[in-house]
Amino acid sequence: MTKNTFDLEQQLLSDYDSKLTAEGVSGERLAHRLGILSKIGLTEDQGSRRSGFSQEEREAKNWIVKWMEEAGMQVREDGAGNIIGRLDGKHPDKPVIMSGSHVDTVPNGGHFDGTIGVLSALEVAQSWKETGYAPEKPLEIVAFTDEEGSRFNGGLTGSEAMMGDTDIEAMQTKKDFDGRTFEEVINDVGLSVEGFKSAGRPHSDIESYVEVHIEQGKRLEKEQLPCGIVTGIAGPYWLRLTFKGQAGHAGNTPMTDRQDALVAAGHFIHNISHLPQKINDSAVATVGNIEVKPNGTNVIPGEVIVYVDIRDIYEDTRQQLIDAIIQTAEDISKSWAITLTCETVHNVPPVPIKKKLQDKLEKAMQGKGIRPYYLPSGAGHDAMIVGQHVPSAMIFVRSKDGISHNPAEWSDLSDCVQAVHILKDYIESCQSHQITYQN
Ligand SMILES: [Zn+2]
Repeated sequence: MTKNTFDLEQQLLSDYDSKLTAEGVSGERLAHRLGILSKIGLTEDQGSRRSGFSQEEREAKNWIVKWMEEAGMQVREDGAGNIIGRLDGKHPDKPVIMSGSHVDTVPNGGHFDGTIGVLSALEVAQSWKETGYAPEKPLEIVAFTDEEGSRFNGGLTGSEAMMGDTDIEAMQTKKDFDGRTFEEVINDVGLSVEGFKSAGRPHSDIESYVEVHIEQGKRLEKEQLPCGIVTGIAGPYWLRLTFKGQAGHAGNTPMTDRQDALVAAGHFIHNISHLPQKINDSAVATVGNIEVKPNGTNVIPGEVIVYVDIRDIYEDTRQQLIDAIIQTAEDISKSWAITLTCETVHNVPPVPIKKKLQDKLEKAMQGKGIRPYYLPSGAGHDAMIVGQHVPSAMIFVRSKDGISHNPAEWSDLSDCVQAVHILKDYIESCQSHQITYQN
């Protein structure tokens, strides 16, 4: 199929179980909307390219505004370009239930990552309009700006701005893939540095946040389930370890008289691959970046820098893993007569999801005859940022072959619509009493 004949809507509808169109929720409308968004930034490989702060992201947001208005929402845009649709409910003075995600994509990404979260929430608002349901509490739907961060090698920009977490000075030092500054880029889409500073809002405005997202893994596929309940979002912790030995001639230095930093680093990388599973099921550690100095074929490596990405959904088990990794590096360095230095270069705390919110999702799943299944989120999402300040929950939708950030990214429409029904029942179950961090 060429780019011109690409028709996501038709593909989605081809095996859709139309009985799922019910209670004001429409799979046909969801497919139509996914189809419209898929054409914005469509690549040669039928993937999506809608970088943060691009005209394509702006165009996708314009559609979201239109659909929010169709659902009877009041729409505004904050200083960071986050699009916010609001339904007042019976008690407009109460803190809001918020739901959403993002509409930007990685270069040559897929058509479900992010969009499905925004469109699912819109489907809930639209269903309420059609069935005449009036919520007790205000509902706000958000399309967050620049979640993927492909332009400035960062991400989560819009959710950070709304939570008041933006380090604006650091942002202003960044250059994008075309060498342009943050300020130049955001000016192009009608945003300003001053606006970014003003985007922060009191956390007490928001009672709780919920996000539907594709799983980007294979657990739900293995379990043959359309969707699942996220138990927590693993925060990334990056360690930079420098193994310092002695560079020397590869020919003239006997094997018994070497301080080879790469041999030590190699042992380290191998040994830590066994540690996470001893500590926790959801813990992971990855070495994906090393620097070897001087990096010559005939030179014994004198210095090796190893970056370790460490994640878990619980702070205490993640800390146990960090400690065990550092201990391993120290032990190995000692036995190879290598000097070790160790620095933390990035640290986002994990976001555990409150049991009470998971229970509500479990009830919603049981109500729809779906076996409740729990799984962690290894990747970061807007919920990871909002969840630092506001009780947050996530629903994952099955991803075909676990593929994401790729044109082949796929979730069946029936799975997406089942997630919408869970989201709807969940948000309705949040109307009767207040969720706080304490309860
Ligand atoms: Zn995403």
